[in-house]
Amino acid sequence: MPDSADRDERIRQALQLLIDEVRERIDRHPLGHLVAGRGERIDLRLSLPTALRDGQIAKAGQDAAESLHAAVQALLHHSAVFQPGRVLCLRCQTAACEHAAPTDSRQVFAGWGRTGLPRFVDFGQWLLARRDPRVDLLYRDTPQLLTVVVPEAELAGDLIPVFGQREDSYRIHAQVAAGWYQAPDPSGVAGWRRPLAVSLQVISTRARRHHRRFGVNVVGIGPGGEPLEHLFDKLGEVSWGDAVRWAQGVLLGIEGQLESAPRTPPEVVDKRIEGLVQAVARRLEKGWRGKERRTRHGQQRHSEGDRPTRMALADFARATPEDFLFDTRRETLVVVGDRGRAHVFSLAGKLVTSVRYNPAVIEKRRQNGLWRPAAAEEVRTVRERLEAAGPA
Ligand SMILES: [Zn+2]
Repeated sequence: MPDSADRDERIRQALQLLIDEVRERIDRHPLGHLVAGRGERIDLRLSLPTALRDGQIAKAGQDAAESLHAAVQALLHHSAVFQPGRVLCLRCQTAACEHAAPTDSRQVFAGWGRTGLPRFVDFGQWLLARRDPRVDLLYRDTPQLLTVVVPEAELAGDLIPVFGQREDSYRIHAQVAAGWYQAPDPSGVAGWRRPLAVSLQVISTRARRHHRRFGVNVVGIGPGGEPLEHLFDKLGEVSWGDAVRWAQGVLLGIEGQLESAPRTPPEVVDKRIEGLVQAVARRLEKGWRGKERRTRHGQQRHSEGDRPTRMALADFARATPEDFLFDTRRETLVVVGDRGRAHVFSLAGKLVTSVRYNPAVIEKRRQNGLWRPAAAEEVRTVRERLEAAGPA
């Protein structure tokens, strides 16, 4: 029998494992930056079997995992009184209504209308309307990332007063609108990109008897209406992630200052936030320039390799008729090689891209008709062009 110190130790270890799991889930969550480092509590429901019969531990584990998931979600939602990815609609008094989110990946938040409806506008159109001299940089072949800092006075300036007053004192202190980022095309074809703009907002709310709580919200929507958090999975990294995490850290510092000095004049806080959003804008542009340099290198290699690679030609040569598929949207020929390797050729015999696909993705595209079996004529056309171009 373990003595009582051992038993305490055992429970402490079990708790430690649970806490590790919660922290990992928060770190992985696209909105985790809203709560990371705050040390807030979650309520977890656990029910444990008193005897281990077949399958019971698995069942209890599954229930616990679900409870954990629900608790983390609840914490994130609570922390985001402002709903992640959405703006509070002051007319409906919720961020869940249809007015609260952009409907197109090019849109940024342009402030509330007189009666509290959020207005979302095309980032490019919006810059034109503001007579921003940089606007042509958005319409180049390789668009430059532009940022615009928008103060609260502009976002909320049109509101008639009754819509501007809320019990929880929700405020958007300032916003950085940024675009274009390059988001994956909803068709999933590797290499196709669509312009994406986001609005990063410094927000605060104040509950009764609490000091103001600050957060950074990221408002935007992916091409085809895809939520931003799904885009993150595809992009691999979040382009604005570093800047947002950094800003959230600075805001935590401001909260700490307010906690220890509750009478700090609002102008002091406003001043710090103003400096913060300017710095966020600079970081976004700087981060983009660094990434752009790396991409350009990649593209240079790509354009030199515009002629099919040895591997693409080899896979083409040994492909059987059922390995040839036709992408009906892009009008390209897809050659499926070993282990999910696929090469996409234009009908002019140029290699568009080589990429690895999960077999399930290939199957799904065949089923939904995006890829159909290629006609013999299509295969012949590409083969002749390849041969005419000579060996790689
Ligand atoms: Zn609404």
